[in-house]
Amino acid sequence: MFKKLLIANRGEIALRVIRACREMGIASVAVHSTADANAMHVRMADEAICIGPPSSAQSYLSVPSIISACEISGAEAIHPGYGFLSENADFVQVVEDHGIAFVGPSAEHIRLMGDKITAKDTMRKLGVPCVPGSDGGVGHLQTAQVVAEQIGYPVIIKATAGGGGRGMKLAKTAADLESAFRTARAEAKAAFGNDEVYLEKYLGQPRHIEVQVFGDGRGNAVHLGERDCSLQRRHQKVLEEAPGPAIDAETRARIGETCAKAVADIGYRGAGTIEFLYENGEFFFIEMNTRLQVEHPVTEAIFGVDLVREQIRVAAGLPLSFSQEDLQVNGHAIEVRINAEKLPNFTPCPGRVNTYHAPGGLGVRMDSALYSGYSIPPYYDSLIAKLIVHGRDRPEALARLHRALGELIIDGVDTSVPLFRALLQEPDVLTGDYNIHWLEKFLAAPAPE
Ligand code: ADP
Repeated sequence: MFKKLLIANRGEIALRVIRACREMGIASVAVHSTADANAMHVRMADEAICIGPPSSAQSYLSVPSIISACEISGAEAIHPGYGFLSENADFVQVVEDHGIAFVGPSAEHIRLMGDKITAKDTMRKLGVPCVPGSDGGVGHLQTAQVVAEQIGYPVIIKATAGGGGRGMKLAKTAADLESAFRTARAEAKAAFGNDEVYLEKYLGQPRHIEVQVFGDGRGNAVHLGERDCSLQRRHQKVLEEAPGPAIDAETRARIGETCAKAVADIGYRGAGTIEFLYENGEFFFIEMNTRLQVEHPVTEAIFGVDLVREQIRVAAGLPLSFSQEDLQVNGHAIEVRINAEKLPNFTPCPGRVNTYHAPGGLGVRMDSALYSGYSIPPYYDSLIAKLIVHGRDRPEALARLHRALGELIIDGVDTSVPLFRALLQEPDVLTGDYNIHWLEKFLAAPAPE
């Protein structure tokens, strides 16, 4: 096993990895920008190295700085967390060329899934059901028109290099196609430096269901059920739960086995998430994320496993520590993403946290890098905490979420907590009856008197 591991990330996910390292007896190295000198991950790691100024481009995204930090500290492995360099195949290649172990899949698999067209094509060949759409990229409006007529309106135009919900445009009818096509291409170019787009049938009422998979890199893989992440704002997840309220054991086993077999067939190594839209009992693949997800704790809660520990073990060449039979669903878990944002417009709200008090008790997990007196810097993502609750069943998890939100104190900055309090009053949320459009409709509705 590695003796020392460097975490190329910040915030709650850096803490998450440091905690796994500590339990495994591995020394941890934090890296940080000058803006993060007082951050919790810097304080909690065994060592910390400053890698640059506040801007992510010059710090957390700077490959030379991170490689140097690794060499100076003598770390043998890098955990990328999520975001930043976690899905950057060129980075992984450089890491491996330096003889450092990357805690994640091979550069080749990241590249394969990072290009959404290739990913869809690969998955289709592996027997995974996909959303009907264009065969590959669409470079001309005329082609887009022909494809859209074939698959039928509404259609969604998506960036091949897409991520984070950017570069996606809906065309409800033929009249919308031209402007949607041009805007999607322009946005894709601006956001990803690549204007290639493709077309998909736009599904009207789907849920977002994603399957957690884990491969050992030698042709063995398991699945850890699904998460329902349908409550989204601007295509970004706000609340996630596992198991999915709409998925029964038979369906879970069926889609889970399809996914595990697909990743086993390509010799995938490490944690991965296969994302689907689920409508009328059918799954449609949209993309695969080749990293740990923000919402991984709900899966950890119901299966009782440490996914980061497992990632590190597999990166060190050890076999999976659980078999498919070992993985039995236990209860229900819900995560809410707490952002430093001011409602109702979700404007980022960085600043000083005067008082922070985390909830506790049975079935409550708080993943956060906050502390009283901490100043949230304005340069990074607005996620400041993830509150995860686990109960024997969904009603118990919901009651626990309500109770835990009542105990939480974050004073000094605005957060998205009031949204979760409001959601817990909604009959559809309480019964789990929602799809990917539910939250946008809820937010657009006038506030009750
Ligand atoms: P990104 O990589 O940018 O997150 P995804 O392909 O994962 O993009 O899609 C993000 C979200 O956009 C989905 O969870 C869903 O809400 C919506 N979406 C994507 N494709 C479709 C589609 N074909 N029909 C309807 N909604 C879609």
